[in-house]
Amino acid sequence: MATTGKIGVTSENIFPVIKKFLYSEQEIFLRELVSNAVDATTKVKALARKGDLKEDLGDLTVRVNVDKDKKTITISDHGIGMTSEEVDKYINQIAFSSAGDFLEKYKDSIDAIIGHFGLGFYSAFMVSEKVDIITKSWQPDSKAVKWSCDGSPEYQMEETEKAERGTDIILHIDNDSAEYLEDAKIEGLLKKYCMFLPVPIAFGKIKEWKEDKYVDTDKDKVINDTEPLWTKKPSELKDEDYKNFYKKLYPSTFEDPLFNIHLNVDYPFTLTGILYFPKIRTNLEIQKNKIQLYCNQVYVTDNVEGIVPEFLTLLHGVLDSPDIPLNVSRSYLQSDSNVKKISNHITKKVADKLTDIFKNQREDLEKKWDDLRLFIQYGMLTNDKFYESAKDFFLYKNTEDKYFTLDEYKNIIKANQTDKNNTIIILYATNKEDQYSFISAAKEKGYDVLILDSAFDSHFINQVEQKNSDVRFMRVDSDTLDKLIRKEDAPKSTLTDTEKSDLSAVFNSQTPKNSNKNFTVEFDTLSADDMPVLITQSEFMRRMKDMGKMGGPESSFYNNLPDNLNLVVNENHPIVKSIIADAKSATAADVTKLEDELKPLKSDLESLEKLTKDKKEEEISTEEKTKKEELQKKISDLESKRKEVFEKYAGGNKLVKQLIDLALLANNMLRGEDLTKFVKRSVEFIGK
Ligand code: ADP
Repeated sequence: MATTGKIGVTSENIFPVIKKFLYSEQEIFLRELVSNAVDATTKVKALARKGDLKEDLGDLTVRVNVDKDKKTITISDHGIGMTSEEVDKYINQIAFSSAGDFLEKYKDSIDAIIGHFGLGFYSAFMVSEKVDIITKSWQPDSKAVKWSCDGSPEYQMEETEKAERGTDIILHIDNDSAEYLEDAKIEGLLKKYCMFLPVPIAFGKIKEWKEDKYVDTDKDKVINDTEPLWTKKPSELKDEDYKNFYKKLYPSTFEDPLFNIHLNVDYPFTLTGILYFPKIRTNLEIQKNKIQLYCNQVYVTDNVEGIVPEFLTLLHGVLDSPDIPLNVSRSYLQSDSNVKKISNHITKKVADKLTDIFKNQREDLEKKWDDLRLFIQYGMLTNDKFYESAKDFFLYKNTEDKYFTLDEYKNIIKANQTDKNNTIIILYATNKEDQYSFISAAKEKGYDVLILDSAFDSHFINQVEQKNSDVRFMRVDSDTLDKLIRKEDAPKSTLTDTEKSDLSAVFNSQTPKNSNKNFTVEFDTLSADDMPVLITQSEFMRRMKDMGKMGGPESSFYNNLPDNLNLVVNENHPIVKSIIADAKSATAADVTKLEDELKPLKSDLESLEKLTKDKKEEEISTEEKTKKEELQKKISDLESKRKEVFEKYAGGNKLVKQLIDLALLANNMLRGEDLTKFVKRSVEFIGK
C-alpha cells in the first residue's frame, strides 16, 4: 500500500535553498551518494563475516549509470539495503531533519560548509528535481520499497519489486544541472572523489575496438583502486611502489619525489597516509596544496591548510583520517585538539624521517640536499618545534661542495676563525662567481667559505645567530678579512689625519657618482700583497636589505636606502704608497700656499677662542662674535680649496680611477659606460 507523508523539515521550501546555498559545491552530491553505497556494502560484508548474513554476498561492485535520454543518474549497490521502517527512520526523519538543522546552523557562514561533509543523502536535491530510492534490505523475507520525493518536503512510499538485495538511488536531473548527464563529467568526478574507495566503483563498461568502432564489452570499467598504497603495510612495500603511487596521484608530474614517509597511527587518533618530499628549488607556491585529504578513503579536499603546519603544505601525498572534523570552519579546525595532535604528529614524523635519513643515509641526503634545503629552512623559520629537531641535521654547504652540520662546521673552523672576542666567524658567499676574489682571498688565509644562496638565507642566518650566540655569519665581502675575523688590534695607520682627509678627497672624487651607491673612503693597513683598493659592504645593512626583498614590515624602508659601500684603501700597497707620495709632491706648491694663508687665520682664531673661553655667552661682544664667524668662514673656504686641489690632482691621475674600477670589477659592479671606459684606459696602460 502506498503512503505519503511530510518530511520533518520546518522550512516549506528547503530544497531550493539548499540548491542555491551550496551551488559552488554542487558536485559533491556524487561523493555523498557513492559513499553511502560504499558504507552499505561495507556493512553487508561485516554481517557476512559475523555469520548473520547466510546468503552468498555476490558481486559487490557499486555501479554508476547515466541515462541521457531519461535524464537520470543511478547509483546502485548490493549493500544492506533498507526496510520500509528504515527508510522512514533514516531518510524521512534523520536525513531530512539533519538537513533542517544543518541549514539553521550554518546559514550565516557559507565558508563553514563549503567542501565539508555532513550533507549526506539530501545533497542529491542540489541537482535533481526528483529522487527515487528503490531498496531491498538484506534481512530475510523483506519487501522492496520505493520512495520518491520531488523536492517539496512531501514524499511517497510504496512496496515494489526488486530482485536483488541493495539500493538504487535514481536522480532525475533538473534542467539547470544537465552538465551532470555527460559521461565525461561524471567520470571526472568519480576519479576526483572516489579514486581510492574501498569497494569497486564501476562506471560503464570497458570498450573494445570492433568493426571500425568502439563497442562496450561486458566487463565493468572500474574507476578506483580499492586498496591504495597507504592502507598497506610499509614493510611489504618497495621504493618502486611508492614512486608508482606518486605517479598515480600526480600523473602530470615527471620528477620523482626525494623521499617519502608512510604514516600509520591508530592511537590516540587514527591517521594513515603517505607524504612525499618534492624537489623544491625556487618556486614555493607551485608546490603548495598538493596533499589530498581523505576520510576513510573518501576524498575530502586538497586544501589541508589549518590541518598541517603551513610549511608542510609544501609536501605532497595523501592523509587519511576519520578524526579530522570536517563540517567546521578552518579557523575552528586549528583549535581542535585532535587536529593539533595530528598536526604535531606529522611535524614530528617528518623531522624523525629526516633525522633517520641523516643518520643512516647521509650520502643520499647530501645528494638531494639542494632540492630539500628550501623546504627545511621554511620549516625551521616558521615552526619552532621543527627548528629544534632540524638544527641537528641541517646541512651547510661550503664552496667546495662539502656538507656539514653547524656543530661539525664549528669544530672545523674554530681554530682558525675565532676572533679576539671568542666568536666563531662563519664566512659565506651568496654567489661563487660574483664574490670570487673575496672567496679566494679568504681561502688563501686558510679560511673556509660557505655558500648561502637561497631566498631564505638572510632570515635563516639571523635565526641561527639568535640561537647560537657563539657564532656570527659574515659575507666574505662585508669587510677586509682582518676586520672580519679580528684576532688582534689592527696595526696603527702611518697616515696623519690631514693626510687621510687629503687622500679621501683623492679617492672619493673618483668613485661612481650616478648610481644608487654611497661610498665612504677608509684607510686600512693590510699587507702589501693584498689588493690596493677593496669595496666592502656592511653585513648588517646588506642583510637588512636582503630580508627586505623577502617582504615584511620594514621592507620598503630598507629597500629604498642606497647601498652604502666602503672603499677600503690599503695604505701598505706599493701602488697606493706611490700615489700618496705623488699626490703630496704634485700638490705641494698649492698646499704650501694655502697653508701659509691658513696659518695666521688659525692662530687668530685660536687666540680669539682663548679670549672668549671663560666668558659667558652674553659677555662676548658682537664684534668678537662677527670676527669669529669671519675667521671660521675663511678657514672653511680655504679647506674646501685644499680639497679641490686634491680632487683636481685625482682627476689627472688615471691610476686612482683605475684602482677603483678594479675594485668595482672584483665586486661585479662595473658595468655599461664605466666598463667601456675602464677597458679603454687599461689598453692605454698596457701600451705604455
Ligand atoms: P549519513 O550517511 O551521514 O548517515 P545520509 O543522509 O547520507 O547521512 O544517510 C542517512 C542514512 O540513510 C544512512 O545513515 C543510512 O542508514 C541510510 N542510507 C543512505 N544511503 C543508503 C544506501 N545506499 N544503502 C543503505 N542505507 C542507506
